[in-house]
Amino acid sequence: MKKLILILAAGCLLGSESYAQDPKLTEDWTHKPTVVTPGCNQVPPSDAIILFRKAKDLNANWISRKGPAKWKTCCRTMTVNGTGDIMTKEKFGDCQLHVEFRTPKKMAKDSEGQDRGNSGVYIQSLYELQVLDSYKNETYYNGQAGSIYKQAAPLVNASRKQGKWQTFDVVFHSPKFAADGTVLKPATMTVFHNGVLIQDHFELKGETLYAGFPKYEKHGDMPFLLQDHGNPVQYRNVWIRKL
Ligand code: MG
Repeated sequence: MKKLILILAAGCLLGSESYAQDPKLTEDWTHKPTVVTPGCNQVPPSDAIILFRKAKDLNANWISRKGPAKWKTCCRTMTVNGTGDIMTKEKFGDCQLHVEFRTPKKMAKDSEGQDRGNSGVYIQSLYELQVLDSYKNETYYNGQAGSIYKQAAPLVNASRKQGKWQTFDVVFHSPKFAADGTVLKPATMTVFHNGVLIQDHFELKGETLYAGFPKYEKHGDMPFLLQDHGNPVQYRNVWIRKL
């Protein structure tokens, strides 16, 4: 009897669909992923476009609205100094972006909210990922560090203390437009702040604005911009990968 049951069970297995199909049918050999050497200890991955690593990169890769970029550079950092926003000479669309920043260790005692370590990572010069001191510093939530300014508060507050280096890692997909300017697909942004997910494939409503409601205007690839908001925020190790 036992033998009969075993024979029947084996027959069921042999006859089942999953057993009958060749596992090779679901193997994908059509597109071999490019080999990229990952970075470590602040070294970018091998296929990244370096935007700022050394002082000389400022003039090589960036300009201001009025001419050459004039932020203060020292060793491997550049510091906002009141000379205006800086933007990359190259234009970008879909991208992966890495930025390291730190808000000043010492700030005026009476400074608060938006006046503490304010700067901004503007993808395509239009979409601001807010840089701010948000370590025990309250402001409107969709304006704190890691917010997509006035559109989306960060999912959590992963801010480090003033004077500590912090990271933003961003995956950005640019908006897609029809010939007449109609939005076919809004821009999306995913952000890790110090390694913590704070924006999860958020669909932007348009350009991020200080006042007024966001809306889109048709555009193509655009420069990447860092904001001079009058606070001496520092940046280092800025790189980008085109997607
Ligand atoms: Mg800002």
